[in-house]
Amino acid sequence: MRLIFLGPPGVGKGTQAALFCNERGYQHISTGELLREAVKKETELGTRARGFMDAGDLVPDAVILGLIEEALDRAPDGAVFDGFPRNQIQAEDLDGVLRERGETVNRVILFRVAEDEIVRRLTARGRADDTPETVKHRLNVYEENTAPLVDYYHRRGVLSEVDGMGAIPEIQRRVAAAVNGG
Ligand code: AMP
Repeated sequence: MRLIFLGPPGVGKGTQAALFCNERGYQHISTGELLREAVKKETELGTRARGFMDAGDLVPDAVILGLIEEALDRAPDGAVFDGFPRNQIQAEDLDGVLRERGETVNRVILFRVAEDEIVRRLTARGRADDTPETVKHRLNVYEENTAPLVDYYHRRGVLSEVDGMGAIPEIQRRVAAAVNGG
């Protein structure tokens, strides 16, 4: 099972991906988390990625693809991609690596939350790249690069929308229903 949790930063997809994967025994593949680990360990990749992340810009696609291939090797039973793909090139890269494995994107869960709630959640989180200016920039980067993927997956018939407002357990039930119901 290959799932994508899609939506702007702060929509709650990371929280839901962690809960969902815990329940199903799937791997939670968060490219943001993998990158933050690389930055912390000061690996070559981390050093390369850091400036982009601090600025709220996308890290180059080639860096991301390497991370994804490694992560897929560790996820034979199932995987939820969180924060990936973030643009058309990454979406096509993902199609390519999955095709080579005889797999496909089974479903994409799009999280919807009101914009003022997103800003509130991100500011409360307090991560290094959650300053008001960076948050604004990351939302713009999302609109420009990532939002067009909604159409890409919708046309393929694999998109489900989930209302991301409300209590975490309630949203969990919506996610499970969307994945099961297709
Ligand atoms: P996230 O934890 O998903 O909010 O990601 C934090 C930061 O890591 C982003 O603002 C980007 O700089 C970088 N990043 C995470 N995932 C990707 C990706 N798939 N493509 C490019 N950059 C990414």
